[in-house]
Amino acid sequence: MTDAAALPGQPRGAVVSGPATDRARCVLAPNPSAMTLDGTNTWLLAEPDSPLAVVIDPGPLDEGHLRAVVDAAEQAGKRVALTLLTHGHPDHAEGAARFAELTGTAVRALDPALRLGDEGLGAGDVITTGGLELRVVPTPGHTADSLSFHLPADAAVLTGDTVLGRGTTMVAHPDGRLGEYLDSLRRLRSLTVDDGVTTVLPGHGPVLDDAQGAMEFYLAHRAHRLAQVETAVENGHRTASEVVAAVYADVDRSLWPAAELSVWAQLEYLGEHGLI
Ligand SMILES: [Zn+2]
Repeated sequence: MTDAAALPGQPRGAVVSGPATDRARCVLAPNPSAMTLDGTNTWLLAEPDSPLAVVIDPGPLDEGHLRAVVDAAEQAGKRVALTLLTHGHPDHAEGAARFAELTGTAVRALDPALRLGDEGLGAGDVITTGGLELRVVPTPGHTADSLSFHLPADAAVLTGDTVLGRGTTMVAHPDGRLGEYLDSLRRLRSLTVDDGVTTVLPGHGPVLDDAQGAMEFYLAHRAHRLAQVETAVENGHRTASEVVAAVYADVDRSLWPAAELSVWAQLEYLGEHGLI
């Protein structure tokens, strides 16, 4: 979900299906909504001179979209060899089993329930398919099973729903936890500071060309919201829905149910840290 107007100045413009970096192209799924922004970004990754491609997040169970991803690979002279999931939310993962059928590929994910085939995914794993190197970065918080993928050759990171191309994301309490989410943002920020990552390829919304700025914005936004929630509680707002009405007044009401999950996560965090 999005709960701020925009990332300041960094998006590379509108979401477009097509090349984003030398090795990554986006196939936008036709599932736009307040929660999914323009729709889910399905990412097709390959070394320029390799016939093998990796797909991250096939997206919803939409036959036309899944076939469009296969077609995009074929048009680029590639064959899909592996499917990866950033997390299990249906707008990213629901189409995975059908996509695996269409492509004959395994599906690798952190959550064993989402896998097809023998191999999982975990911290420190390095994928090397057709010479394409992807490093698995655990980024729990949006959900417990959220992963990001570092694509060093393009100085890029694929963030799923942990960092979006527009607005900010939700912490999906109780599966998502705020302390873990903040640690994940710091882990992504250190990729930008220590490993030279400049580009964010998000699960929704446009590509971001100032990855470090995006991580700083997300961390500042979370700190700001947390302070607002703490103040709301001090002012006598007791239930999550009361806190949402006080703190998320600037956010479209269609997003309030999602905001309530984020508030639960923030109340839990404040309680654990003895702040309320
Ligand atoms: Zn999600």
